[in-house]
Amino acid sequence: MNQTETIVVEALFQPETEVYQLIDRSGRVTHVRKDLIVDNKLDLIDGQLLLTAGLYKSWFKLEELARQDEALFRANIYKFYQHRAYLLAHPELCNKYSNKFGAISYVSSNPCLGALAFSFSKGERVVDCPLCGSPSHLYFAVGSVLSGTSTQSFICENEACQNDHVVRTGGMSKVVDYFNKIQDAYMNLYPTTKEFRSKSFSSILEALPAV
Ligand SMILES: [Zn+2]
Repeated sequence: MNQTETIVVEALFQPETEVYQLIDRSGRVTHVRKDLIVDNKLDLIDGQLLLTAGLYKSWFKLEELARQDEALFRANIYKFYQHRAYLLAHPELCNKYSNKFGAISYVSSNPCLGALAFSFSKGERVVDCPLCGSPSHLYFAVGSVLSGTSTQSFICENEACQNDHVVRTGGMSKVVDYFNKIQDAYMNLYPTTKEFRSKSFSSILEALPAV
């Protein structure tokens, strides 16, 4: 791509989040904060923005990198379970939020990674693994608070199994309450966590010791 080239993208402002959704000619989508559009002195004309090749590359690739990093959570869920004590001892790794764990609903509860480690340590939300019968620990739920239905994801604690499985059940509002309580309890015990910068999953994984 020539650096002097400009690329036309469709821009749709989302006022509730102060974010522009940008769509390129091949249908790729990215999201950019309004202040970045303003800082780069970009004018919106008939719902379109003219980006330099440099901006286009960095904005559309950043989103892709973020998506790839988010995917690392689920791929490494057993590692996060296994290192729960290490995570509790290292609040500098724990100021991390993601929609890949916690409870996702109309009323969501997003605990930080430290609160998830705390939940794993307390072992209050456990079902039997359908493969090996070992305790499996809740890390994610998606569902409706109104109807109560939810799909809950559990990771088996047995190292030889590591089964990541879902259970369709009720009690969605209780799961939201549970993660809220865990987050509050964690923050009371480890208040320094919020002073640290949020890290990518890839750098958190690199910081975990080999077992
Ligand atoms: Zn198992």
